Amino acid sequence: MKAIRFHEHGGPEVLKYEDAPDPKTQANEVLVKVKACALNHLDIWLRVGVRKWQLPMPHIVGSDVSGEVAEIGSLVSRVKTGDRVLLCPGLSCGQCEACFKGLDSACRSYTLLGVMVDGGYAEYVKVPEMNVVPIPGDLSFDEAAAVPLVFITAWHMLFTRAGLKPGEEVLVIGAGSGVGSAAIQVAKLVNARVIATAGTDAKLEKAKALGADELINHSKQSIAEEVKRLTARRGVDVVFEHVGPAVWDDCFQSLATYGRLVTCGATSGAEAKFDIRDLYGRQRSILGSFMGGKGELMDALKFIAQRKMKAVMDSSFSLKDAAEAQKKMESRDFFGKILLHP
Ligand SMILES: [Zn+2]
Repeated sequence: MKAIRFHEHGGPEVLKYEDAPDPKTQANEVLVKVKACALNHLDIWLRVGVRKWQLPMPHIVGSDVSGEVAEIGSLVSRVKTGDRVLLCPGLSCGQCEACFKGLDSACRSYTLLGVMVDGGYAEYVKVPEMNVVPIPGDLSFDEAAAVPLVFITAWHMLFTRAGLKPGEEVLVIGAGSGVGSAAIQVAKLVNARVIATAGTDAKLEKAKALGADELINHSKQSIAEEVKRLTARRGVDVVFEHVGPAVWDDCFQSLATYGRLVTCGATSGAEAKFDIRDLYGRQRSILGSFMGGKGELMDALKFIAQRKMKAVMDSSFSLKDAAEAQKKMESRDFFGKILLHP
């Protein structure tokens, strides 16, 4: 098959469009002919190299995949050849205490499609049957591929970790990102009041179209000052964060008493400071979040199928142009998911 592989870490130039061995399925696995694969920032970190992951080389990234079932193992019973499917990106053992509790990302063998195993920047990819989900309703392959990672992440952060309740106020940092655009919609499911931030007015207009109630242009306005003004100095119940030090002070100051800051990333750096007295005195919480479970994807998909939430798409590229697609992602000049088509 044709695939985009890299043999060493580096810039976009290490991505090679080349022949790769066809994946060999085990009895419990499904071979999927990839129709669409959505990019994530994770793909870029993996290409550049992250210290905690010793990737198998050469490597194929790509965590968000939709396609058609091409072949099934002898033990597979739930899907058949030709089915339209999307893939749940989290791979876990399915039989430990964390997995039984639906806390897939706490499984000790947890990894993602495209991290320790080959992913979707290819004509074919294989996964265990338990990761294969029929595409609901009349969702297109592009729409289906754009859903999993960002909606699992946003759902787990807002509901499972931060315990978002109906009518609460939420600050969504970086509404232009995939996870930010998902968070706005997930928060609106429970009629939260959403204050969204982005660096351009064009991105803020799109955030508004997704349901954001209030907008902050962080390139021109202070996030903390605007949140104070918009909430009559009360602050928000939940801050949805994935940027790190560049916005940390604003985020922490924006929390109401009993407010919860939930974060899933640190794209601007690894260290942040806060005043411990403002943590306990205001009874605030800082929560870490990492991916989520298959059950959370199933929950989100119900609303996607009913068109009450949608994956936002920016553009698509041919698989062989994956380097160009990643450059676009690195430029930050996009809103929503960038897709590859084999
Ligand atoms: Zn497990």
